[in-house]
Amino acid sequence: MKVICAENMGFCSGVKRAVDMALKQKDAFVLGQLIHNPQVVEMLDKKGIKEISSVDDIEKGSLIITAHGTTKSNVEKAKIKGLKIIDTTCPLVKKVQDLAKEFSSKGYDIILFGDKGHSEVKGIVSNAENIIVISSKEDAKNVFVKKACLLSQTTQSIEKFNEISKVLKSNVNELKIINTICNATKKRQDSAMNIAKKVDIMIVIGGYNSANTKRLNEICSKITETKHIETTREIKKEWFQGKKSVGITAGASTPDFVIKEIKKKIESL
Ligand code: SF4
Repeated sequence: MKVICAENMGFCSGVKRAVDMALKQKDAFVLGQLIHNPQVVEMLDKKGIKEISSVDDIEKGSLIITAHGTTKSNVEKAKIKGLKIIDTTCPLVKKVQDLAKEFSSKGYDIILFGDKGHSEVKGIVSNAENIIVISSKEDAKNVFVKKACLLSQTTQSIEKFNEISKVLKSNVNELKIINTICNATKKRQDSAMNIAKKVDIMIVIGGYNSANTKRLNEICSKITETKHIETTREIKKEWFQGKKSVGITAGASTPDFVIKEIKKKIESL
């Protein structure tokens, strides 16, 4: 069985930067998961970097803000408590927060294409006055505003963003479209798509709660049989019966050692 790996996969610069910054700390707290990957979270835990779900959970110490960013109110709360803030917000996520703030202050309604419950989306939302979060072209059909700026969560699908832009162009009188999907995401999606077209089965590696990994899974599933896994333990021999080729891709929060382990296991089948 031929095993083909995506040209672009695994850790992106933003995640790498966040992990490097966090690993320099000692006995710090992370607000939420630093990255959506259980193996890395375990590694950080062993170094005394503990996950908390709310700023209310601590009274002192260092607080790490994840690559996805956080809400303005969380930052304010941490400052009031005198916590040392280690902000690992990816510069590309910060850019979307700044754009939301800028266009909101210029009188635009902000339309954000994203997953409502995601921490990146919550952080962006906290930077704008009038902001609507939509997740599909169906949602876009129900948006009727006069002057709006369309932005995207950095890890969304470019295909869906284009569909949404098309719908909004007919609903909104003055529409400013700014594609804020990050290049690392796009590159990973394009590489996954290219491989999925050539293989009998795709293996998408990454945390089940990782937005960009879920997106890769969605994209590949439309093209070929696809399995989303986190670790070698989930691999089933029967998936590969009668298959001549397998493609491998991984989300931006999947470390190299996990990819290598899974590739090795598949090759040994
Ligand atoms: S996927 Fe893009 S926006 Fe998100 S952390 Fe990585 S580089 Fe930054």
